[in-house]
Amino acid sequence: MNDIASQQRPLSVLIVEDTPDDALLLLRALKKAGFAPEHLRVDSAAALRDALAAGPWDIVISDYTMPGFSALQALDITKRHDADLPFIIVSGNIGEEVAVGAMRAGAQDYLLKHSLARLGPVVTREVEEAAVHRGRREAEGRLHSQQERMNDILGSLGDIVWSISLPDLRMSFISPAAAAILDRPASELPEVLEHWLEIIHPGDRDAMRAYAGDTLCRGANSAEFRIVRPDGEVRWLFDRARLIKNDAGHKLRIDGIASDITQHKQGQEQLYRAAHYDALTGLPNRKLMEIRLQQELAHAGERDAQLALLFIDFDRLKTINDSLGHNAGDIVLAELANRMRGVLREEDTIARIGGDEFVAILPDIRNEAAVRGILGKLTAAIAPAMAVGEHVIHSTASIGVALFPGHGIDGEMLLKNADVAMYAAKRAGRDAWRFYAPDMNAASGRLLALENELRGALGRGELELHYQPQVDLACGGGICGFEALLRWRHPKRGLVSPADFIPLAEETGLIVPIGEWVLREACRQARIWTGQFNPALRMAVNLSARQFAHVGLVESVAAALADSGLPAANLELELTESLVMQEPQKSAAILAELKAMGITLAMDDFGTGYSSLSYLNRFPLDVLKIDRSFVNEIAAGGGDAALCEAIIAMAGALCLEVVAEGVETTAQLGFLAERRCDRIQGFLFSRPLPAAAATDLMREGRRLDLPHEVAPGSARAEEGAA
Ligand code: C2E
Ligand code: MG
Ligand code: MG
Repeated sequence: MNDIASQQRPLSVLIVEDTPDDALLLLRALKKAGFAPEHLRVDSAAALRDALAAGPWDIVISDYTMPGFSALQALDITKRHDADLPFIIVSGNIGEEVAVGAMRAGAQDYLLKHSLARLGPVVTREVEEAAVHRGRREAEGRLHSQQERMNDILGSLGDIVWSISLPDLRMSFISPAAAAILDRPASELPEVLEHWLEIIHPGDRDAMRAYAGDTLCRGANSAEFRIVRPDGEVRWLFDRARLIKNDAGHKLRIDGIASDITQHKQGQEQLYRAAHYDALTGLPNRKLMEIRLQQELAHAGERDAQLALLFIDFDRLKTINDSLGHNAGDIVLAELANRMRGVLREEDTIARIGGDEFVAILPDIRNEAAVRGILGKLTAAIAPAMAVGEHVIHSTASIGVALFPGHGIDGEMLLKNADVAMYAAKRAGRDAWRFYAPDMNAASGRLLALENELRGALGRGELELHYQPQVDLACGGGICGFEALLRWRHPKRGLVSPADFIPLAEETGLIVPIGEWVLREACRQARIWTGQFNPALRMAVNLSARQFAHVGLVESVAAALADSGLPAANLELELTESLVMQEPQKSAAILAELKAMGITLAMDDFGTGYSSLSYLNRFPLDVLKIDRSFVNEIAAGGGDAALCEAIIAMAGALCLEVVAEGVETTAQLGFLAERRCDRIQGFLFSRPLPAAAATDLMREGRRLDLPHEVAPGSARAEEGAA
């Protein structure tokens, strides 16, 4: 018995039955069929629920009709609890229809109480089938959760993982990142590869077609391309793809992973821009200019074409920076850059290679006349005044031109020669252009050496002032003042004339500190002489254009006066026509300020500049200095003598004092004295003298012998005192 029992299969069975005897009958039938049943009998919904919860059960066998409970209710409760738990109905009298209804509702089978012969096979079958169901369901569950985990991983990856089936080229899988990167709902992503091309940037579509074909041949591939989002935003993707084959070598699909590299690309782009473009103007910088020049030269060489290289340097930018500040300078530069770009051709390059230096590369130039045409357009674009804040700024440029192949066959030589030509344009008075000529080289080499030396001259104390006396013709020929004239005591070259280094000092901006030193030194010396000899003595100091435009001019004049203790009435400032006419309105304002301080204002070299007298009223001038070129011609009695006479007469009418400079002969002196010129200055009385020699002259109380007292020809004895 024990043996038999051990061979019997265990079965935990939940019996829904109101009659205990019927339950026993069932158990007996099960044992007979080879089961060792363990059972619980319930006859109400509540008891069934408790029993199910206390499970597990292999099978539920239910009576059909019970008082207050039914098989269909029991079935419902059971299937809700566990859909795989087999449910068999056993009933005394169940009609065909009811039975079918119960099977539809989920019962596995039904048996009649009086013929339980089928019970064993039915239970065996159902328990086995349930086990299979359970296994499959569990496997499905495991797969499902694996899939979910996979999706989680792919979702968090940020890259698009994709798979295209072959040979139909359909997108069989694409990870959730695609929706975010392409900015389209997953449901709207195309299925066919051909439609994917519509998302690709038009410029990359051909390359992508080739990429797909290439991947099919090569097996593994990668590419960078752009996609366009529905809102038009362009993103860069980097894609790696691999062809998957089966063991037989049959092509199954292409798998790939695409990463959004937009930020990386933008970073690269920014780096490239920063390295190749000028931030202020947006123009190519020196580096990119050099690259383009190489390319254009190679191109021109191949086709036997000419190319022009323009070196453009703005004449007054340093002055604008000094006087209005760097912001104003930046605004002006950006505007000028725009204007220049606007008149050049598409194929030309304009680059900013330094502070106020630009280079233009003009390929395919037919002849010099064509370059002249472009130069004309450039200067016309630069010329119009521009407003920066309340200031009106006029810009001019000095431009040097070198032609390929005539002036150089490589970039370096062309740049150097265009630069040399630009300096020649500067020397020619700025606002000019020059084509390179070989003899310009020597001149520019000398200038460069001089510039370097001049930088140190002030610090090394190599600059000094000489003083040229001015003589008063109205009051007996005594010394009434001096003009301070700058000298550079060069260790090797000896005494260098200002004519040789003032233009250079102007160009380099060195004139500002040098001019300030002149002003202080002249005031200091004048203070000594006014105390020692003549309280009314006037000291004339020359101002240069750059100095005049410098924002601190009025302050530095005031400081020079205050620090030396020289009264403003003893200081005379010499200006030139071109200097005040550069920005007449601004000049008038500065002159008014200086005038208000009590300073005397003199117009130097009068007659050589604008030759327009109309402006004289506009500026608060006190003195006209007739240029020595007119004085020179006096003795000859030609047109200049007449002009000299006219200037003196006009000055008288305007209540201006007249000083004649460069008076060398008694004849000139006689002519000027007769026409009531107020003062004269020139070698006739004295050359410019070092301070000590000038002091001696004052101490001696030397006077100029006025014409009626002077014997003809004796004037020569007076000069050469320096
Ligand atoms: P400028 O202001 O017209 O100075 C007069 C020039 O005429 C001086 O030349 C002087 O030496 C020269 N001169 C005077 N009398 C005679 C004469 O009888 N015959 C001849 N042939 N020449 C005479 P210098 O000293 O060589 O100065 C040349 C120019 O350099 C000056 O012309 C002035 O424009 C400029 N300069 C001189 N010193 C300074 C300075 O401290 N600052 C500035 N900004 N410019 C200066
Ligand atoms: Mg002067
Ligand atoms: Mg002069």
